[in-house]
Amino acid sequence: MSKFWSPFVKDLVPYVPGEQPKLTKLVKLNTNENPYGPSPKALAAMQAELNDNLRLYPDPNSDLLKQAVAGYYAIDASKIFLGNGSDEVLAHIFHGLFQHDLPLLFPDISYSFYPVYCGLYGIRFDAVPLDEQFQIRAADYVRPNGGIIFPNPNAPTGCVLALDAVEQILKASPDSVVVVDEAYIDFGGETAISLVDRYPNLLVTQTLSKSRSLAGLRVGLAVGHPDLIEALERVKNSFNSYPLDRLAVAGAAAAFDDREYFEKTCRWVIDSREKLVAQLQAKGFEVLPSAANFIFARHPQHDAAGLAARLREQGVIVRHFKQARIAQFLRISIGTPEQNQALIDGLGEL
Ligand SMILES: *Cc1c(COP(=O)(O)O)cnc(C)c1O
Repeated sequence: MSKFWSPFVKDLVPYVPGEQPKLTKLVKLNTNENPYGPSPKALAAMQAELNDNLRLYPDPNSDLLKQAVAGYYAIDASKIFLGNGSDEVLAHIFHGLFQHDLPLLFPDISYSFYPVYCGLYGIRFDAVPLDEQFQIRAADYVRPNGGIIFPNPNAPTGCVLALDAVEQILKASPDSVVVVDEAYIDFGGETAISLVDRYPNLLVTQTLSKSRSLAGLRVGLAVGHPDLIEALERVKNSFNSYPLDRLAVAGAAAAFDDREYFEKTCRWVIDSREKLVAQLQAKGFEVLPSAANFIFARHPQHDAAGLAARLREQGVIVRHFKQARIAQFLRISIGTPEQNQALIDGLGEL
């Protein structure tokens, strides 16, 4: 701390992302990246953008990418907002749509960036406990609120909420914005984008970091009623007119256009997940039902921190959260079949 800081900075509690180790030999199953690399067409599109045009600012509206997303979901481009990763999209949502008198609601076990944004923007929140099976219960969100946000599938549990339950939450709070954070939706859930036309209070966020394997490019999006999108555009254009650079727009648009590669690699991840779940269950793990590209598992006889340390000695890193209720769980990202086998081998006899 120093006298030069704006006063609020000393109270900030920043988000801590999963480790990005400098050692490349590690089997990295800790940050839910996609083991299968981006679409070759996305890489080619970015290569083609590496030219003299980089001296020019990019399109502030990223229209090429908006058109690609609009085409993919068969929606109008006026319902789409784009940002530098969905984390930035979420930041603008908290800033522009969640600063109200009533508390924001989100699950007690959820994406740990939500309380961080609340701290940054001075938003009061109530954490709503998941039920004993670690599921979101729609009825628990029927109460006065200044907004609602939850990941679907949830993170770090991987559990998915059916679309009719999402709709129940939307119906019960017609006067607040409900954000469904669909970072992992392509690995097993059903997107709520189909509900956007019927619910002007719904905003769906997605990212290209997971299912489209472009975490390094930083592209995220929101889909919702144009009135909600306008609020986000106002915040964005008061902050940074060019969150997406020329390479990001070209690569992300090509990734959306390459349905075949996308569907194939999602299928590979889902198949590997089912196999890994069976292998872990055979070792005595309890694994929560996952619709994501990671699983959340605990072993009744082995301490999670100890297992994470043992795996690390074997060159495999997974994520462990020192948080009440989930301190005995490990979050394991789905890797290639070889990486998943390294995890199983690293656990050894239990
Ligand atoms: C990964 C993740 C994000 C952020 O994605 P980026 O687009 O990489 O910023 C948002 N929400 C949840 C729940 C995530 O797991």
